[in-house]
Amino acid sequence: MQTRVVRGVATAIEQDEQGTHVRYHSTRVVTIHLNGDVTLRTGGYRTNTTKCRMNQAANQYGLGFHVYQQDFGWFIQVGKLQVPFIDRELTIKAEMLRKPACPCQCSDWICSVHTGTSTCSHPATRTLFRIDMEDQTGTAFCDGCAEDAMNSGLFREAHQ
Ligand SMILES: [Zn+2]
Ligand SMILES: [Zn+2]
Repeated sequence: MQTRVVRGVATAIEQDEQGTHVRYHSTRVVTIHLNGDVTLRTGGYRTNTTKCRMNQAANQYGLGFHVYQQDFGWFIQVGKLQVPFIDRELTIKAEMLRKPACPCQCSDWICSVHTGTSTCSHPATRTLFRIDMEDQTGTAFCDGCAEDAMNSGLFREAHQ
């Protein structure tokens, strides 16, 4: 699932107690913290690929920012705000982002995304509903866990 999200051998998705990271070569170009803050790092390489990885992550996780270049400088568009990206590292506060990330609520310890642990720290992107019980609220899953949950046959996409 992870290679499908951001293609290419140089890019990897990692997760730890801090949150979810998109690593490009040796730099974690995007970190989505558990509180929803997002940190962007150039690693000193202001290349199109770095910029592209950041924007891919923004799209993938619905983070509500966009990185663009103008007159040799980098800028982050967050809603109506344009923030200059001058240093190697910049953190966008969760409350500035359109959709603060909520962690995935998957608690299945045999889930293929986080086998052996019952918690997942990816940002949730989809809500699924149990088919075998009265489920009014649904459960928020990240892409990978949602796929796993759908494969289990116990969840459906929309509440009926
Ligand atoms: Zn998950
Ligand atoms: Zn899971």
